[in-house]
Amino acid sequence: MTSDPFFHPVSGFELPRFAGVPTFMRLPHVAPDHPRFDDVQIGLIGVPWDSGTTNRAGPRHGPRQLRDASTMIRAQHQASGLRPFEMANCADLGDVGPNPADIADSMQRITAFYDQVCAAGIRPLTAGGDHLISLPVLRALAKDGPLGMVHFDSHTDLFHSYFNGQMYTHGTPFRRAVEEGLLDPKRVIQIGIRGSMYDAEDRDFAKAEGIRIVEIEEFFERGVADVMAEARDIVGNQPTYVSYDIDFVDPTFAPGTGTPEVGGPNSYQALQVCRELYGVNIVGADMVEVSPPFDQLGNTAFLGVSIMFELLCAMLADSIGAK
Ligand code: MN
Ligand code: MN
Repeated sequence: MTSDPFFHPVSGFELPRFAGVPTFMRLPHVAPDHPRFDDVQIGLIGVPWDSGTTNRAGPRHGPRQLRDASTMIRAQHQASGLRPFEMANCADLGDVGPNPADIADSMQRITAFYDQVCAAGIRPLTAGGDHLISLPVLRALAKDGPLGMVHFDSHTDLFHSYFNGQMYTHGTPFRRAVEEGLLDPKRVIQIGIRGSMYDAEDRDFAKAEGIRIVEIEEFFERGVADVMAEARDIVGNQPTYVSYDIDFVDPTFAPGTGTPEVGGPNSYQALQVCRELYGVNIVGADMVEVSPPFDQLGNTAFLGVSIMFELLCAMLADSIGAK
C-alpha cells in the first residue's frame, strides 16, 4: 500500500501547527462531492451530535476541538514505526450535518452519510458525538452481515430504554445493534466496565446473548496483553468494528466527558490497548464522548486524537480490507 501525495498531511516543518484551517490530522478536506472522494481509503469523519446524552451534554462540540487538537499529530507512530498517511489515502471527509432537534432524523442523516462512505469503499474513523452515533454508523457498515466489536468503555451501553420508553440514547446503542442484527454478540467484547450500577439488566442481557464483558477488576488483574489476546480471539479474522468511549480512561486523564467513572486505565494503557489490535480486520472505528465544555483546556481532546491516531495505525497494521 502506498498513498497519493495529494492525501499527505501538511507537515509542521512546512507550516507551523497553529496555522492553517484545522482539518483532522492536517489532512485534505475531501467532502463526498469532491472529485477525489472515490480515491479515499480511510476517511476521518466528525459527527457533532449529542442528542442521545442522558445527563451532562457537550460531545456535539467534540469534532471541532478534536480537529484542533489533532494538528499535533505527526507522520510516524513512535513504537511501531508505521507511517499511516503513506500507507493509504487518508482524508478528512468533513462533518455529518445533524438535526439537534430530532433524534430519528439525525440518525437517518448519519446512516445516509456513511452509506456514501461505504459505497466508495472508504473505511471510516469517526469522531463523535455521544455514543448513540455508533448505532447509525453500524447500520451502514453491517450491510453484509453482523460485525464483531471491540468496545472500550466504562459502561456497557446495553440498556433497554430510558425515561419510560426512549429506545435511542447513548446508554442503549449496542442493545439496539444486537437486536437489529448489526453485531454478532458472540464476537463482541466490552472492556473496562465499572462504576455504580442501576441494576444488572445490562449484564443479564450480555450473558443471555453471549457478549463478553471484562470488568475493570479483571482488566487490571490480568493486564493489557492478556485481555487483548482474548479480544483478538473473540473477534477472530472476520470484520470487526472498534468503538472507543473516552470514559474508558480514568477521569484524571480524561475529565472532559459526560459520564466519568473513577478507577480506570491511565493514558498510556489507553494507547496500549489499541496497539494490541494490530492484525484485527477493522472495518471502522470511532472515538466518542469527548465533551469540550468539561475540559476547555483540551487535554481530553488531545488524548482522544492520540487514540484516533493509534486506531488509524491499527486499521493499517495489516492489508485486510485495503483496496
Ligand atoms: Mn459509551
Ligand atoms: Mn461510557
